Amino acid sequence: MTDPALVPMAPMLIARGVEKSYPVRRASPVTVLRGIDVLVRRGEMLSIVGPSGSGKSTLLYCLAGLERVDSGEISLGGTRVDALSQSRLAKLRRDRLGFVFQSYNLIPSLSAGENVALPARLRGCRAPDAAAALAAVGLSGHAHKRPGELSGGQQQRVAIARVLAARPEVVFADEPTGALDTTTGAQILDLLRAHASGDRSVVLVTHDLDAAARADRTLVLRDGAVVAELTRPSAGGILAALHGAAPSGAVA
Ligand code: ADP
Ligand code: MG
Repeated sequence: MTDPALVPMAPMLIARGVEKSYPVRRASPVTVLRGIDVLVRRGEMLSIVGPSGSGKSTLLYCLAGLERVDSGEISLGGTRVDALSQSRLAKLRRDRLGFVFQSYNLIPSLSAGENVALPARLRGCRAPDAAAALAAVGLSGHAHKRPGELSGGQQQRVAIARVLAARPEVVFADEPTGALDTTTGAQILDLLRAHASGDRSVVLVTHDLDAAARADRTLVLRDGAVVAELTRPSAGGILAALHGAAPSGAVA
């Protein structure tokens, strides 16, 4: 039997040699990811930083099975994501993963509570207690409001309540605080940070160094390659790695 004390260290997601290019009309394809290795442990929050255009979002989407890789392997809890059919991949994303984007992606015609309940309805499961899920993100009494009646920070908290209500194994967040002020952004990070425990993990893409430093580990990307990896990062350490990391691909 597995020692429960070891479970938090067990790998949740393993990616090896991930390569990805995009076709360009009447030109050679643009290579975005150049053989990337990533390990995310259970209970861990991993942040990914890098200059704009370094491939952060593309990497996140590949890890989450939203984009197909050209080559390389991605395993999620022992399942080879890169080898799944479209329909199995969609089911895996729906049942085991959660996504938070900079733009909230709420359905404007539905109330906050209906937005939170929607994924369970789509899965054909019993709807979660949306009011409780909203209370857990500090939005008691807001369940009846439409997204347009909420501030950006409140909308992002609805988006997070929607994700967390399903208790996904991995939450993938792409610049989730990008449109928020510092205080509101910190609340969002607290919620993501709290999710990364036990056997649940978070992968956070951000250009905010303080946000990135909330993670257990940080990967620094440049030109589609991992150029540094920091454990128990500080914002200053990440900044130094961003500026000092050799573009040739050495891992610090
Ligand atoms: P980041 O999130 O670090 O800013 P992205 O992953 O969004 O970087 O993009 C990395 C590079 O890939 C950029 O040069 C971008 O123009 C290119 N790219 C991203 N998505 C596409 C796409 N669908 N088609 C063509 N090029 C793309
Ligand atoms: Mg991006």
